[in-house]
Amino acid sequence: MIGVPVALRARSGTVRPVGPAHPATRPLTAPPGFHVMAKPTGAICNLDCRYCFYLDKESLYPGDRFHMSGEVLESYVRQVVEAQTASVVTIAWQGGEPTLMGLSFFERAVELAERAARPGQRIEHTIQTNATLLTRDWARFLARHGFLVGVSIDGPPAYHDLYRVDKRGRPTFARVARGLELLREHGVAYNILCTVHAGNAGVPLEVYRFLRDDCGASFIQFIPIVEPIAEPGAAGDAPAVSGRTVSAAEWGSFLCEVFDEWVVRDVGRVFVQSFDAALASFAGAPPGICVFAKTCGDAVALEHNGDVYSCDHFVDADHLLGNICDTHLVELVGSSAQRRFGAAKHDTLPSYCLECDVLFACFGECPKNRFATTPSGEAGLNYLCAGYKTFFHHVSGSMRLMVDLLERRRPPAEIMGIIASTPRNEQCPCGSGRKVKACHGGRR
Ligand code: SF4
Ligand code: SF4
Repeated sequence: MIGVPVALRARSGTVRPVGPAHPATRPLTAPPGFHVMAKPTGAICNLDCRYCFYLDKESLYPGDRFHMSGEVLESYVRQVVEAQTASVVTIAWQGGEPTLMGLSFFERAVELAERAARPGQRIEHTIQTNATLLTRDWARFLARHGFLVGVSIDGPPAYHDLYRVDKRGRPTFARVARGLELLREHGVAYNILCTVHAGNAGVPLEVYRFLRDDCGASFIQFIPIVEPIAEPGAAGDAPAVSGRTVSAAEWGSFLCEVFDEWVVRDVGRVFVQSFDAALASFAGAPPGICVFAKTCGDAVALEHNGDVYSCDHFVDADHLLGNICDTHLVELVGSSAQRRFGAAKHDTLPSYCLECDVLFACFGECPKNRFATTPSGEAGLNYLCAGYKTFFHHVSGSMRLMVDLLERRRPPAEIMGIIASTPRNEQCPCGSGRKVKACHGGRR
């Protein structure tokens, strides 16, 4: 039995898997592929980012060590691999700060995943980190196993350090930059997750160019910071939000300004998740991210002790689906509670959304942000609605042009050449009705 963990041994001495076995029949309600955000340290993090929505989840487990055990790890990796029908399985780690677990935890995770993979199944590993604890050993490990690393950076230091501080309130940018440099030196694939808040929303191009040019990012995800602080008031009242919250108008113009730069020089070279999702929606394809999909519920959160919640943004007692040590992951994801959660994204839309001309691309965005009221006083409108209307209208001409290229089996990146070759005094080919010189932020 050398090398076999104690937890693997049944009383009889035979080897059995830790945790429940896969059901004999896969639940019909379970989606063919789903995503799990696993949090091996729960909410524990070495930083104290002012807008982090996850840090206070520590209170769900009073007195806990917040350290995923070998048994839970073993059970989780086996279940997530055997629950997927696709040939590629992603194992995603998040936090809190997952690197606090130490390298040996992830070495074991990789080993377990390789053991669990069925013939023909490929495992992809991803980790979302603040990058401040990365070392050469980490970088070598991440490179060796082909990890895709998500690094949180909010733009140049002046904007990043506004809210991304450590436990003593000190700035973190320099430490993040060192971590990023290690990843680049070792050829680790990385993308940037950038939150857009009251501090950086007014400088979209400065932020975008910094991430693209200084951080070398070729994949960028912009996430709006939205922090409601009270129940919405009467119809027409603006909902109360924190001072860090980006306004709907700022969010809309942030996306529009970045888009205007991207569409004339970076298509096919820099992937901005919201733009990719919009292009997919305009082409009639699934957007690829839950917030713009009609329904959701296919991305659950796994806490350090094996508890599974409906979503990373709904880690609370009302959305606890069960624990993978008692019930197989595929049954939790396929449970009626989780299916209802996912369907509610569409079923609870106010009529204002159902009649909206950009519903097909927006779908009311994430339910966590639906605390505003419609002009007629109906509850459940997304706080960012006005920004999304602006954005989707602004990009519609360019999106239609790129969809047209796709339909003719041409790469969407050809839009850049089409715009560049149109005289500045002529109407822009994107169909905006403006002359080229006045379109796309006048960047041509
Ligand atoms: S609640 Fe929001 S973040 Fe969670 S799965 Fe649904 S759309 Fe995505
Ligand atoms: S833009 Fe506004 S009205 Fe339209 S679907 Fe989105 S949230 Fe609803």
